[in-house]
Amino acid sequence: MRYQSTRGNSPQQSFLEILLGGLAPDGGLYLPTEYPQISKAQLDSWRGLSYADLAYEVLSLYCDDIPAADLRALLRKTYTEQVYCNGRPQDNANDITPLHWLGEEQGTRIALLSLSNGPTLAFKDMAMQLLGNLFEYALQKKGQQLNILGATSGDTGSAAEYAMRGKEGVKVFMLSPRGKMSSFQSAQMYSLQDPNIFNLAVAGVFDDCQDIVKAVSNDHSFKAKHQIGTVNSINWGRVVAQVVYYFQGYLLATKSSSEKVSFTVPSGNFGNICAGHIARMMGLPIAHLIAATNENDVLDEFFRTGVYRARKSTETLHTSSPSMDISKASNFERFVFDLMGQDGKATAAMFKQVDEAGGFDISKEAIFKEMGKYGFQSGRSTHQNRLETIRNIDGEYGVMIDTHTADGVKVAREHLQAGIPMLVLETALPIKFEETIEVALGRPAECPAAFKNIKSLPQRVENIDADVNQVKAFITTHLS
Ligand SMILES: *Cc1c(COP(=O)(O)O)cnc(C)c1O
Repeated sequence: MRYQSTRGNSPQQSFLEILLGGLAPDGGLYLPTEYPQISKAQLDSWRGLSYADLAYEVLSLYCDDIPAADLRALLRKTYTEQVYCNGRPQDNANDITPLHWLGEEQGTRIALLSLSNGPTLAFKDMAMQLLGNLFEYALQKKGQQLNILGATSGDTGSAAEYAMRGKEGVKVFMLSPRGKMSSFQSAQMYSLQDPNIFNLAVAGVFDDCQDIVKAVSNDHSFKAKHQIGTVNSINWGRVVAQVVYYFQGYLLATKSSSEKVSFTVPSGNFGNICAGHIARMMGLPIAHLIAATNENDVLDEFFRTGVYRARKSTETLHTSSPSMDISKASNFERFVFDLMGQDGKATAAMFKQVDEAGGFDISKEAIFKEMGKYGFQSGRSTHQNRLETIRNIDGEYGVMIDTHTADGVKVAREHLQAGIPMLVLETALPIKFEETIEVALGRPAECPAAFKNIKSLPQRVENIDADVNQVKAFITTHLS
């Protein structure tokens, strides 16, 4: 399988060649040159496979420069019940992403697709755990080291640290805004004692952390000299790992591949739902993919109107579903590339317009009128909607959901179609956003047993100023 840039002006590469990098040299994102097609018979033959073996069937189509036996071993090591047992105890936990049926509304069965049972209780573990094992494998093969520099406001940083802890050849330097994360999130990150993980608590806000990462990444000689890399959401390895649970959700919800299902996806950077788009392009019988946003509704606006209007960071609201608080959706370019008939020149022109004019408008163009064939729909929620949905799902079904999943359930209910099961992606467990749960329900969030005393564990974190040179100095003194 070869990978091309969405801007059409970079050489094609193999999976292992793009795994450790970020953007393509022309500023685009990597996508395969074609989507492998899965027949209905093939799909039915995957019923009953373990999650790891299903992942092998899907990923072997994309990672064909990893020998089959190695890939299968990496997947079996990653997708185990032991790794994905930290969340809600469920009878069908060996499905790894079990379905949790809520009930029937308007003739439609609704389920949560449980993606939040990994080590950090958010869906990012689904891909990040695999990335940790893939990075270690690729670095050993090349005899290289990698120093990951990242910025986080919560979920991404902890998922990356738990994926990379103890990994040979990898160090993680994670910047977080001091005192700005929830106490549960900071305890999760700062309690890690692994010597290859460095938490840097920056005196500033998330944007300051992000700016430092950008400044270091733009210092090409520093970056090359110290093998600096990232694990951000545009990494193709993350997207392709997420394709697998759309197949798993489909197979668990249906008896034969003549049936269809829809998915609703709480969305921010468009990484999660982009994987759903790829599954659908491969032939998975998905009726609709519904993008659910919070008040930061750049994606909802696009799917409804054909106008893509990236927000400034000063226009980005801090909401009760903070992992979806984005100003522009970094993976969205992958969908736009497909929408433009995989025309890199046209895609490059559109994103040039995003940089220069803040967005683009395709509302009057034929491609917008024909967009229905990709199955996307969308909606948004407000803080009040999420509180009401958390209360309602707790009252109706006795199930506690987090603020991001609540956004998904609220929007899913506006798009039910009789007879087509609706699977809402559960992207985090309520304990991660316990302050809002308390407000919604007047009682504390459920806390999985493994996390009961996390806030009293010793913490390992360095305070640092919002200063690029201090961060660079910290990195150079802590390299082996
Ligand atoms: C990251 C995240 C999202 C948004 O996912 P994208 O891939 O950025 O669209 C939604 N919910 C939670 C809990 C997250 O951590």
